[in-house]
Parts: sequence; structure tokens; C-alpha cells
Amino acid sequence: MKIFVTGHKNPDTDTISSAIAFANWMKEANNVDAEPIAQGEVNEETAFVLNYFNVKAPRIVTRATDEGVKNVILVDHNEFQQSIDDIEELTITGVVDHHRIANFQTADPLFYRAAPVGSAASIIARMYKEANITITKELAGLMLSALISDTLLLKSPTTHPTDHPIAKELAEIAGVDLETYGLEMLKAGTNLSSKTEAELIDLDAKTFPLNGKNVRVAQVNTVDIPEVMTRQEALEAAMVGSMNKDGYDDFVLIITDIVNSNSQLLAVGSHLDKVEAAFDVKLENHSAFLPGVVSRKKQVVPQLTESFA
Ligand code: MN
Ligand code: MN
Repeated sequence: MKIFVTGHKNPDTDTISSAIAFANWMKEANNVDAEPIAQGEVNEETAFVLNYFNVKAPRIVTRATDEGVKNVILVDHNEFQQSIDDIEELTITGVVDHHRIANFQTADPLFYRAAPVGSAASIIARMYKEANITITKELAGLMLSALISDTLLLKSPTTHPTDHPIAKELAEIAGVDLETYGLEMLKAGTNLSSKTEAELIDLDAKTFPLNGKNVRVAQVNTVDIPEVMTRQEALEAAMVGSMNKDGYDDFVLIITDIVNSNSQLLAVGSHLDKVEAAFDVKLENHSAFLPGVVSRKKQVVPQLTESFA
């Protein structure tokens, strides 16, 4: 019986790499017919990674039931609104994740592995080692890239001490220099000039239900915050458009400087006071600088959750 392995909507490098690596793990460890799938087109950073290691992007499948598949494994997420469209109709047989667990329940027992580490892929790398399964050069490259992407080259506060030796080991297998390759890969994802504002705010965006409010939190990486901020007016218009179209109460955009590890916050919506309280800032023209903030998971969503509570 076939199982799909999927990451979240608006796929990032960790979601895609984890789906590929964990589908292979399921085959090797459990002899299961597992296929990695994606909930959308890969972004430019992920395209760089797949091209570098010569791996094909997973197929996009947004309804498993259309293909007669009933079982799904979730990687790099667990919240249903971030998952495959027909998630409510599927049996979740497993989860490998490194996010909060806030809105999750199943009817049946399942395999669930969660750890507060840098990437879902680095959990999967640990699982390869635990099961004594060989990590190929390609999979090492993918899992390494996922960890680099999620932790901005191991600098984010989400980085776990044990992620460092894992990165080193994966880099060796993949045959790349961690720092050189890492920066090249991250920069591949910062080419924002070719994108419309509507595309930018949807590149890496997630919806969080916070105390009955639907809050959209998007993040873009850059090496030049002021350059992105020259587009502030158009970005805000796109954020308002998305709020109206998709029914969000608030839209928060985090523009992250991947070199200096800071972010600029841009916010529109009905609860700007709560956004200000979350980060202890005063918004000026809908914006504020957030020194040292790079992680949505650890430095943005928990703060918003508390503020909206
Ligand atoms: Mn992710
Ligand atoms: Mn992740």
C-alpha cells in the first residue's frame, strides 16, 4: 500500500529535502512504498540545491485521495492548515517534525518523532544513523542544505548543539565545504528583484490560528534590507490584498538579513497593538527593526501567540 510523504505548503528546502530523504528511509528501513510529494513549486533556493546534487523535485500532489492514497506521513510540519488539502480525509501514519504542536490530533495511533533541533532533515539524518542506513552523497547534500536553510548556516537560535557535528558529517559525505557551499546556497534564495510583491509575500508564508484570529506570517531572506524596503508600499498593498482575499486578520512580514542576522518587521491588519506588544516595539509606518531576530519558529510565532492570547 502506497504512502505519501509530504512537507508543508509553500515548500522550503527543509520540507522538500525531508520528504525525499524520509520516503527513502521508509523504503530502506521498513520496505514501504513511500513517495515524496510536494505542496507546491520549489523555491529558487531549493531549485539550486536539487540542481547542485542532481535530484528531481517531487511531484506536486495536493489531494492524495484523488490518487487512491489514504496514508500520509508529514515531515517538517504538523499543523493541518499548512498540510495537504485533503488531510482531514487521510490517515496520518507518521510525523517527523521540529515545530510546535498546537493543533494536532488523530483518530489512530501513529509514529511521531519531534525534536527541537535545527531542521526536520537533521532528525532524519539521525534516523539514518540509528538504523544503520547508508546516506548517499545526494541525500547528504539535501539534508545538509535543509539544515543550512532552516538555521541560516547554523546561526539561528533554533540550531541545536548536536546539529554542528551532523552538518560537518553531511558536508563530508556530500563533498562540499560547509561555509562556502552554505552561503552560495542561501544567496540563491535571495534573488528577490525578479519577483512581484505578491510573489514575495507568498514565498515562505504560513498561517497560524492565534486565539481565533488567522495570522499570516511570511519571511523573506535578503542580503540588503533597505533594498527590499524600497518596495514597502507595494509590499503592504500586496499584504492587504492577500488578507482580503484569503481572510487573514493580520499579515506579518519578516525581512531577514541572512548575513548580519537581523530582521525588519512589516505588519498590516486589525491587531497592530498586539504585534507591537509581541516584539516590544513601536511600529513606525507599519514597520520596526528586530535586532537578532532570524527565526519565525522561535522568535516570532511564540511571541505572537502569547500576545494574541
Ligand atoms: Mn519548513
Ligand atoms: Mn524545517
